[in-house]
Amino acid sequence: MMVELIGVSKVYPNGVIALSNINLSINKGEFVFVVGSSGAGKSTLIKLLLKEEEPTTGQIIVNGEDISRLKRSKIPHHRRNIGVVFQDFRLLPNKTVYENIEFAMLVAGNPIKDVKKHIYSVLDMVGLVDKANSYPHQLSGGEQQRVSLARAVVNKPLILIADEPTGNLDPDNSWAIMQIINDINRRGTTVLMVTHAKDIVDRMRKRVVTLVKGNIVKDQIKGAYDI
Ligand code: ADP
Ligand code: ADP
Repeated sequence: MMVELIGVSKVYPNGVIALSNINLSINKGEFVFVVGSSGAGKSTLIKLLLKEEEPTTGQIIVNGEDISRLKRSKIPHHRRNIGVVFQDFRLLPNKTVYENIEFAMLVAGNPIKDVKKHIYSVLDMVGLVDKANSYPHQLSGGEQQRVSLARAVVNKPLILIADEPTGNLDPDNSWAIMQIINDINRRGTTVLMVTHAKDIVDRMRKRVVTLVKGNIVKDQIKGAYDI
């Protein structure tokens, strides 16, 4: 099992119950969509997995390790297991494409030896070798998201978390991003993607976990977007 949530609840200090006794198991190599209306608890789920928030009750096990009992000093190691992409790309504006990816490797203390070759190999995977020396503002939204995906996988994470990765993109660019994410998944990375894009969920025929008010109300093997 790559991810296991056992009886996980999250109650924020103001009393809001964002997640209510969630049980969820995700196998290594799975592709899971998480869908739900605004306020359903999707972001909270991601924050718990990244250990940006602590669960109020329950256990969260990632790759065999109970992250609720993780020492502070082990958090960077835990985060290295997870690559993340966001709706708004979050590239560093004053660094080139190459430098953005290089920086992610440096921060993670990545032991990969041939840094330059590896960066070009992830750029090749997203089809942007020719943009290595461009700055983010010189790229289209679709290209920026491809850079962000290259950066997310450069440290060879076990899990890719994609938080509305197509939210700012037109349909063509969205599909290009989905093909890359699918590719990353086929190479063995477990994918958890939060989205509101019904057309994408319905066409991909992947597992769909539906959240309503902090509860998992549906978990379908080859599911559809149905809220
Ligand atoms: P989603 O991502 O599905 O929109 P969230 O996980 O962001 O849902 O939010 C779930 C619930 O928790 C919402 O009612 C939201 O207002 C509340 N919430 C989220 N973050 C906080 C916070 N830091 N403090 C208090 N309440 C929060
Ligand atoms: P390297 O020789 O640089 O270590 P790898 O053998 O790790 O390269 O990667 C081989 C190919 O797979 C490269 O094209 C690389 O871009 C791609 N790749 C590396 N990591 C991942 C990943 N987590 N998901 C998808 N593709 C990846």
